[in-house]
Amino acid sequence: MKPNDKAYNAHFSAAVQKLKDEKRYRVFANLERNAYRFPTALWRPEDPSESPRDVTIWCSNDYLGMGGHPDVIAAAANAIGVHGAGAGGTRNISGTHNPIVELERELADLHDKEAALVFTSGWISNLAGISTIASLLPDCLIISDALNHNSMIEGIRRAGCEKQVFGHNDVAHLERLLAAQPRERAKLILFESLYSMDGDMAPIAEIADLAEKYNAMTYIDEVHAVGMYGARGGGLCEREGLMHRIDVIEGTLAKGFGALGGYIAGKAEVVDAVRSYAPQFIFTTTLPPMVTASARAAIRRLKTSGEERARHQFMAMATKHALMAAGLPVLENPSHIVPLMIGDAARCKAASDLLMRRHSIYIQPINYPTVAIGSERLRITPTPRHTEAHLADLVEAIVDVWRELDLPFTSARILPMRRPAPSSEPACVYPQMRNAAE
Ligand SMILES: *Cc1c(COP(=O)(O)O)cnc(C)c1O
Repeated sequence: MKPNDKAYNAHFSAAVQKLKDEKRYRVFANLERNAYRFPTALWRPEDPSESPRDVTIWCSNDYLGMGGHPDVIAAAANAIGVHGAGAGGTRNISGTHNPIVELERELADLHDKEAALVFTSGWISNLAGISTIASLLPDCLIISDALNHNSMIEGIRRAGCEKQVFGHNDVAHLERLLAAQPRERAKLILFESLYSMDGDMAPIAEIADLAEKYNAMTYIDEVHAVGMYGARGGGLCEREGLMHRIDVIEGTLAKGFGALGGYIAGKAEVVDAVRSYAPQFIFTTTLPPMVTASARAAIRRLKTSGEERARHQFMAMATKHALMAAGLPVLENPSHIVPLMIGDAARCKAASDLLMRRHSIYIQPINYPTVAIGSERLRITPTPRHTEAHLADLVEAIVDVWRELDLPFTSARILPMRRPAPSSEPACVYPQMRNAAE
């Protein structure tokens, strides 16, 4: 042991203790997912004396359950059987395999763009996309929504150019910032289509109008919308007929598409420049064929099938409806995200623990810095594979936890049910789901 080891270690344990004191030390749940039983999974408690048991996951970002879709499993199994485990190199040095080239074509087509470029995660695609685009524009000014995701903020930092922040979804503020700049100056507006903690949506058309009026470039993060919105799963820009009005669309392969990876799609020149300059793309090994083939299978399925989207929206609406009717403080929003507000880190953690221990329901507490202090919450994400029986259990369990912890109820609210379009009636999507319900 080096004489200094103790001194070094003291810094790390002090840093961790600080998080514990602030009640924001993260504890991970060890879950064994099973594609055929999702959203049921096997939970292994940290204490080895406690035996593993089944829990129902209500906070997965595998929003549509595509990670376990039969088409996706078949594509992944086939790809690993044929191509083996890895990619064999970086994109430049022997790692550009056909499945990733096909995936990039699939993504360009999804967003009706000339080209797309795949990265190892959505986080990396924002870091690389934003920093490279902004640093290639002379004297670029980045104008960023106040609630943009950490990966976008890291991209801005790395770009090293001037930055201004507009109030969340505040187009009047955005316009003031744009109007104060010379028309010829390069300006890059960064925003998300769907903000994943409150579940609210950006005024995309108004932002596109301002970009046109003031000669700015637009970059949108559609991570929480791709696969889930639009006739082919192209996100909110597709749903609103705005894909051609946004310059760069960024997305993930890890949420609605159930796999791993991220991407940008845009004009051929922009994508080629990022491909050529971004170190986060150049100096790292390509995603393997097994992963890219499964992502592509999910995208292809969701381009032609509306079943998963319809059932997803139906379950999200049914969940909000049921929780509100029980007098629980759901934050209203127009999306599939169901935030249940608690407003205190320790009580949020206690509610999550009690749901798991007493009711075998897993909902991770969301605390600062993911959300602002005082807006701690349980973030519930219903999927097409949750059944009405799962939902009934959830409501009963949460009501019990609310009583046990003496959390405030609201007066019961009745949410008007939006009917899905007749052509997209919710159907039982997966053969496994029928089994699960039996
Ligand atoms: C999750 C997330 C990302 C990162 O995507 P990954 O594929 O998980 O790395 C980017 N942007 C937003 C808004 C996200 O929520």
